[in-house]
Amino acid sequence: VFQLSVPLNFLGSVYRELRQSLLDMETLFNLQKVNVSIKEKPDAKSLALTKGGEIRFENVNFGYYPDRPILRNLTLTIPAGKKVAVVGPSGCGKSTLLRLLFRSYDAQSGRILIDDQDIRDVSLMSLRKSIGVVPQDTPLFNDTVELNIRYGNMDAPPEQVLAAAQRAHIHDKIESWPHGYQTKVGERGLMISGGEKQRLAVSRLILKDPPLLFFDEATSALDTHTEQALMSNINEILQGKEVEGGSKKTSVFVAHRLRTIYDADLIFVLKEGSLVEQGTHKELLEKGGLYSQLWTAQERWGAEVEDGVAAADAE
Ligand code: ATP
Repeated sequence: VFQLSVPLNFLGSVYRELRQSLLDMETLFNLQKVNVSIKEKPDAKSLALTKGGEIRFENVNFGYYPDRPILRNLTLTIPAGKKVAVVGPSGCGKSTLLRLLFRSYDAQSGRILIDDQDIRDVSLMSLRKSIGVVPQDTPLFNDTVELNIRYGNMDAPPEQVLAAAQRAHIHDKIESWPHGYQTKVGERGLMISGGEKQRLAVSRLILKDPPLLFFDEATSALDTHTEQALMSNINEILQGKEVEGGSKKTSVFVAHRLRTIYDADLIFVLKEGSLVEQGTHKELLEKGGLYSQLWTAQERWGAEVEDGVAAADAE
């Protein structure tokens, strides 16, 4: 029995590795277009998070096409265990920054370091295992809801899947579907909304429980109430409060709606691929630059919408 179980266990772990890399492939595709030129060095070591996940961009230049620079001489430090946000006008390169971190692409010049290790020197598997992404559009597989969440961690027992869904504020919704967690989603199954997809992606991320978490417009399809409830749970996870002795996570939020990130420890403002400002919400408002303009415009817009609703209600 013993002799048999060893190879079976071994196969099991290979299978799990395969499933894990399937997820990573999906995430990769989703972070847009796999670049096959991304290779790992023959002597690549595993990423070691010796400082708790500090991320540094040093003079990073990148463009999808050589004659069209997207990130220009970007230098910034994301401190370990902090929640940071990357904001700026549409097309300024926010998602691109996350794609470089995940090594969907490599910078043309400059370097990206995680805890002082150049990400081109570490194994792709260890890098991508350390990172969890909630991308702009989450891929779902033609499979059950449970499996779609489980892709975050194939070993998780059902109660952990359920707990992750609860924290992501999607459990009650799932229970209301025809076969609960066994409901099929995707092309031939249940059609689910953008907001439900986002919360399934967050469940997957919670289950994966990586030390570095990136959110690319992860709550954009949710109503304000659900968004706030979900963000408060995400904040707890980032603080490491959900498990005893849990450590703080490094997180990067890309968001248009500044109200969702104004409590970040540090906010980076990009414009046409360059870093133009950085600071806390308060500091950036006092500075009166691009961030403060974006904030004022969004607040005015929000007030107009509220006034409009109030006026419609009064009629
Ligand atoms: P948004 O806020 O609208 O999501 P963003 O700031 O996240 O925008 P990116 O998605 O990083 O911006 O895109 C930056 C620029 O790179 C854009 O001009 C975009 O058209 C271009 N771009 C993005 N992905 C690709 C790609 N795979 N190939 C070529 N160009 C791309």
